[in-house]
Amino acid sequence: MNIHEYQGKEILSSFGVRVQRGIVAQDPKEAVEAAKKLTEQTGTGWHVIKAQVHAGGRGKGGGVKLAKNLQEVEEISGQIIGMNLVTPQTSAEGKKVHQVLIAEDVYYPGDNEPEEYYMSVLLNRATGRNMIMYSTEGGMDIETVAEETPHLIFNEEIDPSTGLLPFQARRIAFNLGLSGTAFKEMTKFVMSLYEAFTKSDSTLFEINPVLKTSDDKIMAVDAKVTLDDNALFRHKDYAEMRDEREESPVEVEARAVGLNYVDLDGNVGCMVNGAGLAMATMDLIKQAGGEPANFLDVGGTADAKRVEEAFRLILKDEKVKAILVNIFGGIVRCDRVAQGIVDAYKNMGNINVPIIVRLQGTNADIAKELIDNSGLDVYSAVEFQEAADKVQEVLA
Ligand code: GDP
Ligand code: MN
Repeated sequence: MNIHEYQGKEILSSFGVRVQRGIVAQDPKEAVEAAKKLTEQTGTGWHVIKAQVHAGGRGKGGGVKLAKNLQEVEEISGQIIGMNLVTPQTSAEGKKVHQVLIAEDVYYPGDNEPEEYYMSVLLNRATGRNMIMYSTEGGMDIETVAEETPHLIFNEEIDPSTGLLPFQARRIAFNLGLSGTAFKEMTKFVMSLYEAFTKSDSTLFEINPVLKTSDDKIMAVDAKVTLDDNALFRHKDYAEMRDEREESPVEVEARAVGLNYVDLDGNVGCMVNGAGLAMATMDLIKQAGGEPANFLDVGGTADAKRVEEAFRLILKDEKVKAILVNIFGGIVRCDRVAQGIVDAYKNMGNINVPIIVRLQGTNADIAKELIDNSGLDVYSAVEFQEAADKVQEVLA
């Protein structure tokens, strides 16, 4: 589950990670109140107004702006709230901004220039260990850094039996070229960041930039935090951070009926039981020259009701030109599923794209007969390849 920057910072802060302080606001009036309160806490009169949407690159899209007085706080908040923010990470239509974070300006002048670093914590799937990825090149696209100057990206892998050790945090601070106060601050920052990562059951922290202020404080200026959905049951307070306005409406609906659905860009809808078979089916569609419109695992109990719910979800997507149903009947009998498909088709009455059904397993032959005799625009296939060829045929 993705959360907003301000929520990510709340989590970090609760584990003692220093963050750029801020208060979230829903409208320009609240924004001014927030700015006043922050000034009392921090003493700074300058604030940054930051659009809160689930997408990065907000600065580039005009979603992060500096306000030098309360009047500017009000004006800029008014511009940003309600705008459709387009960034390199959103679609061309952008994302509607419902709220802004009013944050203290931490790029104030001093003895040194403020400096930006990049830091993320994530799982290295190749080694099965968490790692901290970091770079001196903060504030910009890490993808660009990886492409043009890969030697400026460092990794620190963590042994799960010991956790992050202090010498590793010191190595990070050293590689970032720090010394003195900033060095100590960075080791503390890294240790608490990693503790926050593991204790919050996150799957990704991306802090870009981590800032060294002009007076050598180290803090998180941005926070992209992804929480592990499977661990939300033990973090009730985090579960409440879900903002459904930021999620795909179809995915929200799918979750409500307990279907495992991921929206994709293609033209072939898929309904499959089992995540592995769903992945293989998507490969198959690609191989046949199509593009999957979704990932959908209907789970072990593919009865008529579930099949109908799944069809409804898939058909909400107007890009869908064909639907491939690929079900392995192990626990569930194929003829049951076939009946479910025929019933759902008739019940819904508005299915106007061809459906290719591949049922394998218990009673597959009876299922094929059921489909073939239904008189509906449904094609049955027995072999994987047959199904692929049929998809290609109906798309042509
Ligand atoms: P992103 O564009 O979505 O990644 O949003 P960030 O939170 O990373 O902010 C974008 C940029 O805004 C940062 O890289 C900074 O250059 C700038 N910025 C953020 N906070 C401040 C601040 O307190 N003062 C100033 N002057 N600039 C800031
Ligand atoms: Mn950022």
